[in-house]
Amino acid sequence: MERTRSKELYAEALRLMPGGVNSPVRAFRAVGGEPVFFARGEGPYVWDVDGNRYIDFVASWGPLILGHAHPAVVEAVCRAARQGMTFGAPTEAESTLARMILEAFPAMERVRFVNSGTEAAMSALRLARAYTSRPKVVKMQGGYHGHADALLVQAGSGVATFGLPDSPGVTEGMARDTLVVPYNDLAAVEALFAQIGDEIAAVIVEPVAGNMGVVLPQEGYLEGLRRLTQEHGALLILDEVITGFRLAYGGAQTLWGLAPDLTCLGKVIGGGLPVGAYGGRAEVMALVAPEGPVYQAGTLSGNPLAMAAGIATLEELRKPGAYERLAALGRRWAQGLAARAKEAGIPLQVNAIGSMMTAFFTEEPVRDYASAKRSDAARYARFFHAMLQRGVYLAPSQFEASFVSLAHTPEVVDAALEAAGEAFRNLAAS
Ligand code: PMP
Repeated sequence: MERTRSKELYAEALRLMPGGVNSPVRAFRAVGGEPVFFARGEGPYVWDVDGNRYIDFVASWGPLILGHAHPAVVEAVCRAARQGMTFGAPTEAESTLARMILEAFPAMERVRFVNSGTEAAMSALRLARAYTSRPKVVKMQGGYHGHADALLVQAGSGVATFGLPDSPGVTEGMARDTLVVPYNDLAAVEALFAQIGDEIAAVIVEPVAGNMGVVLPQEGYLEGLRRLTQEHGALLILDEVITGFRLAYGGAQTLWGLAPDLTCLGKVIGGGLPVGAYGGRAEVMALVAPEGPVYQAGTLSGNPLAMAAGIATLEELRKPGAYERLAALGRRWAQGLAARAKEAGIPLQVNAIGSMMTAFFTEEPVRDYASAKRSDAARYARFFHAMLQRGVYLAPSQFEASFVSLAHTPEVVDAALEAAGEAFRNLAAS
């Protein structure tokens, strides 16, 4: 598979942008080699600038739950664009998408749109601190909530990929109020609350971790976080930037029957355009400006094109059977990978739920960041490149999720599994 044009474009991009990219994991540093430059996407496929086709399991890191260039989304965005791209003033579309989100997430009584998941989590934290008049927040090791200073402490995603401890530029002062505990370790959270419960404003958690690779919450973990935060007057912030409208129309909180104080959304609600949102109890959201004193604003927040893409995406997702289809495709992909790895004698831990999945190259179950990091990332890198050569685009890091979309038919998944079988056999032989 020739990628001459990608190479040329990357060489040029390196002279223009740090690492040649605008988000670190895109640069392939964790898997080696050079990034592929894409020209086009349609349904489950992407084409690179050299004309090679790949089955896509990255889905732009989660938003493209309908696949690439879904006709209804494209049409909605074009229609909106013709009416004017942005006004910096209220539009009806914002209320439409807000209503759809509040209906889907009963624990969200009010919502505020922002432009990214980073902004959503950053703003939710500010609000939690203001509401409780407390300084500290608890996050999980390997949990990623965007790159706001206070949240770049033992973070997942690219931070985990590059094995960075914490980012330079984040001062001790900014990091001091961020407490980190292992994911799935309720006792550690309990101990923190016992010690300094009256200083903790919030616990922020991905209900299903997606940024150390996919890690499911153990029985009682999320419910335990809900109970502890409630007992100690702290807020529970569920970061559903990945899981919202992906695991279920009402996100992970619907599946687990949880009512968090605040929820962060992103990715799917923007249908591929830059959108984030945070929301929750009316009493808490009433503190947000201009209703309250907690400042948070955005020139392009609630952008008409982004709202149109989000609305069109959610309209597709609420059609009967959408989540059953996603889950069936996710199962086919996850179980198929596990079976083919086993046939080839490759130890693999497949963590999967609904349409999200990570296959960890390790013999031990993965239940937190420490066990995720015991995976053989070098072996993942070889697998990644073997799949790329066979026309399957996976996340260029072991510590990320793979996503199927409603555009991935069983036949498409089977074609990717065929490639995986070959890739595993080659790994076993090498
Ligand atoms: N929270 C979670 C759970 C995420 O997965 C991400 C991004 N992958 C973010 C927040 C940050 O979102 P964004 O990249 O849109 O800023």
